Amino acid sequence: MERDAIFRKQHNIHTSGTNIPSPLHDFSELRSRYECKPYILRNLAELNIKKPTPIQMQAIPILLSGRDVFACAPTGSGKTLAFVCPMLMKLKRASKDGVRAVILCPTRELASQTYRECKKLAKGKKFYIKLMTKQLSNTAEFAKLSCDVLISTPLRLKSSVTKRKLDLSRVEYLVLDESDKLFELGLLEPVDAIVKACTNPSIIRSLFSATLPDTVEELARTIMHDAVRVIIGRKNS
Ligand code: ADP
Ligand code: MG
Repeated sequence: MERDAIFRKQHNIHTSGTNIPSPLHDFSELRSRYECKPYILRNLAELNIKKPTPIQMQAIPILLSGRDVFACAPTGSGKTLAFVCPMLMKLKRASKDGVRAVILCPTRELASQTYRECKKLAKGKKFYIKLMTKQLSNTAEFAKLSCDVLISTPLRLKSSVTKRKLDLSRVEYLVLDESDKLFELGLLEPVDAIVKACTNPSIIRSLFSATLPDTVEELARTIMHDAVRVIIGRKNS
């Protein structure tokens, strides 16, 4: 068996798709393989995060190679870092080029939790990371909001797009976190509207969840392009 296959098997990483990048064995490879800036490695060390979890091992290199991913891994297995780390690396540095990355979370509580994680990993770097709140959508010139990372629930972001004309056409990176919940009745319509508003053709889309029911997988296929599927452990554990 080839080296990657053995490593994946050892870590219970199941993949499907074509040309799947090798998994990360260690965070130091972020630097040797992907020229990761020192601030990320410094922040990981400060957070006492030493070794990538299986979802991080496989999802990070896929996203860094610019591919869409749909990923399923148990609760508490470090999915946030699996998408925040490559996202910050891809954004490279702060810029005022509109909204550059969007992370959708099903609840406000999860959105603020993700916001805090994102800030921790970005520490020492001047990224504009914003949590979508009512106050934010009431600021002057909101339609021309510039931020590197915008974290929101679907309903709030959708109304920002439709009522306040927030421009998402420059989003380079879209994450649907806890996508099984985002695809439930009531959120599906706003999620779909946001996906459609992110019209940048070179966008990287990713979808993370703890379970991957067939319905979610079917919906995922309608929004993803040449995605790599990563499952840690069993599909619906
Ligand atoms: P999930 O979204 O999969 O439920 P989280 O991303 O919320 O999980 O991570 C759960 C906890 O694990 C967080 O406190 C996070 O800081 C921590 N964590 C993430 N990655 C690692 C790692 N590689 N090593 C140690 N702890 C980690
Ligand atoms: Mg999570």
